[in-house]
Amino acid sequence: AINSAISPTSVQPVAIARTPFAEKFAIPRQPQLAPAARAVIELLPPYNQPEALLGLEQVSHIWLLFQFHQAPADDPAAPRLRVRPPRLGGNEKLGVFATRSTHRPNGIGQSVVRLEKVEGTRLWVSGVDLLDGTPIIDIKPYVPYADSIEGAHNGIASEAPATVSVSWQPDALAAAQQQAQRLGEDVAALIEQCLAQDPKPAYQQPDPERRYGVRFWDINVIWHYPQSGGICVLAVETGG
Ligand code: SAM
Repeated sequence: AINSAISPTSVQPVAIARTPFAEKFAIPRQPQLAPAARAVIELLPPYNQPEALLGLEQVSHIWLLFQFHQAPADDPAAPRLRVRPPRLGGNEKLGVFATRSTHRPNGIGQSVVRLEKVEGTRLWVSGVDLLDGTPIIDIKPYVPYADSIEGAHNGIASEAPATVSVSWQPDALAAAQQQAQRLGEDVAALIEQCLAQDPKPAYQQPDPERRYGVRFWDINVIWHYPQSGGICVLAVETGG
């Protein structure tokens, strides 16, 4: 049998992503924005054989094609043709095919990530923008001569989004360092890199009294927007 381009098709995940991101909020909007976001890609049967990764150790970056498994499914009877990209402040609509929106036909996402290490049937990667448990439907090597286009431009997203400064309450930083010991991960760097992307919706005027929170692994991170600007991390705690 051959793949048919025009008949309905079904895909099976080849792997699953184990990432720090327990919820969608505060995940960077693209890969590479948080290099401290490390993940393990675990191959699934029948592809969970080391030979399926033979040669991949010669490659610095890989493409992950994945399923936005926690995004709303598109309804072909009422397809969503236009979406509101967050970087336009949530007001302007663009064609779904002009954006990297998670709400799209077939729910397929793609991310280039750094390949740190190949170990048996596991890939250690970094710079991910994937929710924990994301089904991976294909893995391909990044090919610099073909995938990097000199002089390419995108008038909607011409450069990485501006970042905000992140400061710490001393207790929160100490707690992050403790968690780093426990998890063997640079927890403080991950928090700083993700919060620097400013997770709150662009239209929201930050009230200094308001508390924001997100979970990375089993850690709750609490922050606010002080009057003086930027973000201040107030607490890093487990449990609850
Ligand atoms: N780099 C990919 C792409 O261009 O196709 C994803 C871009 S999308 C704008 C990134 C966002 O998708 C993240 O900030 C996160 O909120 C969301 N996301 C990540 N994994 C997801 C999943 N498995 N299901 C639903 N949403 C997900």
